Amino acid sequence: MQLYNSLTKKVEEFKPLNPDVVTMYTCGPTVYDYQHIGNFRTFMSSDFVHRVLKYNGYKVKFIMNITDVGHLTGDNLGDADLGEDRLELAADREGKSAKEIAEFYTQDFMKSYDKLNILRPEKFTRASDYIKEMLALIKTLEAKGFTYRTSDGIYFDTSKVGDYGKLAGTKVDLVEEGARFEPNPEKKNPTDFSLWRFSPDSKIRWQEWDSPWGRGFPGWHIECSAMAIEELGPTIDIHMGGEDHKMIHHPNEMVQSECVTGKPFVDYWMHTAFLKVDGGRMGKSVGNAYILDDLETKGFTAFDLRYFYTLAHYRTKLNFTWEALQASASALKKLYDMVESYQEDPEATISPEYLNKFEAAIGDDVNIPQAVAVMWDMLKSDIPEGSKLKTLEKFDEVLGLNIVDHIGYEVPADIENLAKLRWEYRKNGIWDKADVIRKQIEAQGFVIEDLVNAYKVKRK
Ligand code: AMP
Ligand code: ZN
Repeated sequence: MQLYNSLTKKVEEFKPLNPDVVTMYTCGPTVYDYQHIGNFRTFMSSDFVHRVLKYNGYKVKFIMNITDVGHLTGDNLGDADLGEDRLELAADREGKSAKEIAEFYTQDFMKSYDKLNILRPEKFTRASDYIKEMLALIKTLEAKGFTYRTSDGIYFDTSKVGDYGKLAGTKVDLVEEGARFEPNPEKKNPTDFSLWRFSPDSKIRWQEWDSPWGRGFPGWHIECSAMAIEELGPTIDIHMGGEDHKMIHHPNEMVQSECVTGKPFVDYWMHTAFLKVDGGRMGKSVGNAYILDDLETKGFTAFDLRYFYTLAHYRTKLNFTWEALQASASALKKLYDMVESYQEDPEATISPEYLNKFEAAIGDDVNIPQAVAVMWDMLKSDIPEGSKLKTLEKFDEVLGLNIVDHIGYEVPADIENLAKLRWEYRKNGIWDKADVIRKQIEAQGFVIEDLVNAYKVKRK
């Protein structure tokens, strides 16, 4: 299988370190607020990669972190280490403890994660559970001479390594990004970043720990290095995240990890292009940082959103509009209707022709839109229905659209009985009663289609 590697900027044949078990790490949510549909695009890409690996027969040791401390408001922007801890700010905003904030938004995240049918990692690792491991990494970096101290923390000196930024491109890009902010005057180089931050004198933080350098909290980047190395070893096969991480977070994770272990940190870096909304940036200030709940309130399901994510390749920007979501919902409904109407055949076999095409698509840098196109071609073809169902079942190991649930679907007996009763009323011209029953049926999530001399009950 071929994957695009952000590090080499090439499509490469995927070769895991251990031929049987692939190690994979995806940067997870910062749990200071709801995760929006942009964040979930990144987690969905990670799910497609995870599923393709499993489909190809690999065991996957997959870890996703939960960032519950140390991610500052300025951390995603050029000159990192600016601003305030997002968790502490949220605690002030909501009048809760940082732990309560983390717990609430972690639960909410996991609820949407499961609804979207994203396969769970072996572990969701919470940053605050790995402080000991982070301190050990920082101590090693200090012993090797990569750190220096300022008034607010311990920093990594990026000038000590020749190829810092090899993932991001050039250092110039990073500095230009950071130019929008007042640089920290105590930093030796604009690209240096904090490993450990001291608690401020003016305020007692919700979360702080003792360290050899003073009481404080970890820098955001060291968290992922500590969790990844602890859980997956010094070299990971695949590391994923949103494209914003290519510039700062991931180069920092990489440089500090490699300076500790002396080994490559990651063999394949993969980055998901951002989701846009109505053609523009999405954000809370723009009022379009929609969450799954907003979609559900408008009558859409998590699977409608999952289908929508299949529309673009993970390295291409995807534009969310309500119309596009509606089109996805309609396509998915059409798919489910087709599946429900097909006759199962225990003797049927998977279509080798379409399986080959599907595997070529997913093997080509996880080209999910192409895989979905193959699925529709297969459904439109004249292969027998039983074969279509068998082939779809196989495809759904990767697509995760819950197609299986619709195979051999039978309308529940009580709904069938209501539909029969309604039919009798209609035959006898008792329209008002027939109408009451139709509404009753609809309230339970079904619709009746009246044909010339018959009717059909379907799920809404
Ligand atoms: P955060 O909770 O801010 O740490 O972000 C969680 C993940 O979502 C990170 O991997 C980000 O890169 C990713 N992300 C943030 N915004 C978007 C977006 N608009 N589209 C896709 N991924 C995003
Ligand atoms: Zn990370």
